[in-house]
Amino acid sequence: MNIGIAGAGIVGRLLAWRLLRLGHKVTLFDNDIHGDKSAGWIAAAMLAPFSEVASCDPAIFRPGLAGIKQWRTWIAELAVEVNETIEFKVNGSVVVAHHSDHADLQWFFQRLQAISEVPKDHVHWITKEKIRALEPELNRFEQGIYLPQEGYVDNRQLYRALAKAIKNAGGELVDKTEISDVQCGLIWSNDKSWAFDLIIDCRGFGGKKSLRSFRGVRGEVLWVKAPEVNLTRPVRLMHPRYQIYISPRSDNHYVVGATEIESESIESVTVRSQLELLSALYSVHSGFAEAKVLEARAHCRPTFSDNLPKIVKAPGLLRVNGLYRHGYLLSPTLVNSTLAVIDNKPPLNPVGLHELGAAFKQSSAKTATKATTLTSTKTEIPS
Ligand SMILES: Cc1cc2nc3c(=O)[nH]c(=O)nc-3n(C[C@H](O)[C@H](O)[C@H](O)COP(=O)(O)OP(=O)(O)OC[C@H]3O[C@@H](n4cnc5c(N)ncnc54)[C@H](O)[C@@H]3O)c2cc1C
Repeated sequence: MNIGIAGAGIVGRLLAWRLLRLGHKVTLFDNDIHGDKSAGWIAAAMLAPFSEVASCDPAIFRPGLAGIKQWRTWIAELAVEVNETIEFKVNGSVVVAHHSDHADLQWFFQRLQAISEVPKDHVHWITKEKIRALEPELNRFEQGIYLPQEGYVDNRQLYRALAKAIKNAGGELVDKTEISDVQCGLIWSNDKSWAFDLIIDCRGFGGKKSLRSFRGVRGEVLWVKAPEVNLTRPVRLMHPRYQIYISPRSDNHYVVGATEIESESIESVTVRSQLELLSALYSVHSGFAEAKVLEARAHCRPTFSDNLPKIVKAPGLLRVNGLYRHGYLLSPTLVNSTLAVIDNKPPLNPVGLHELGAAFKQSSAKTATKATTLTSTKTEIPS
């Protein structure tokens, strides 16, 4: 098929890459192909099914673990294709708490023990000796939790590698194009339109006006460079308002996040949030005192009312969205589900499928070349 994808965030570019490998013709649109306007670019890209399931729907747990497995294969394939290294580490994460927040640490441990999906032998309560053995510089904490199956991916290396792989495979990247509407078989940028056999709308929070029961959940992060800090795995600090994590990158860079605020503002990071993130950071390791703050960024996590991803299917159009906090953890499942739906198969758990209008046919949009004769298809999740 000739497929147009609106939005080159983590979902859009991953789908483009996989569809090209399956032999489809793909054109990928974004107002900033580089990725700077996407939530996936600023995200910490932690792969943390254990930490996340403590406060999210247990349905994300197994697909999250499967997602890590899928990333391992995909990243190996991608690295060979583009002849570049993409940092992807699954060497566990450490959860710690200051003395005053110990009850939160205990709650977190008990919560993981209580969730039936979670294998208990992969959740370890650890004392200071083990914390030091894992992370010698984490010397302020007496107790913690070790989650050996968690990891992270360097999202920015991944974005660049995917763009390169898409180009190498003959995909077309249409940059600096603000999409004003996406309809069955058509992508619109103001009065200009492009026709395809199938459109896949992957605009994340930017697709909000076409979806019902959908919201943005604001998150703020800091990107810092800390030459005096050497952490090798993500560290999560229990915090009275939200858990704060520090996700390492090469060359002593760290992503520090993230606030979670029920707001759809993507305005600059507030003073309050910066104070909270920075003071939590310094409280974990004094070496962060001399760190340089490279970026302070905010974006909205694209979220349906049940916080789970969905595919909304109409003739010639799929809207693929709702990854919430789990863009990296669940995008392999969402992308494989989208490929399944294109193939008229059901999506994988926990991806919801909502069908609108006539059954989707691969050739349906070929008739939709006369843009002016089409009425807008607002895809709404039936309540
Ligand atoms: C602070 C923060 C931290 C996070 N940390 C993690 C984490 O550690 N682990 C994890 O798994 N997930 C994390 N996430 C969640 C993850 O970033 C999102 O779930 C994921 O990025 C959603 O992917 P997406 O492709 O649907 O949307 P996006 O990544 O936002 O991509 C959407 C794309 O569409 C484009 N677009 C939108 N509207 C238009 C338009 N009108 N015209 C043209 N282009 C348009 C945008 O420019 C963008 O490139 C985090 C999110 C935030 C905000």
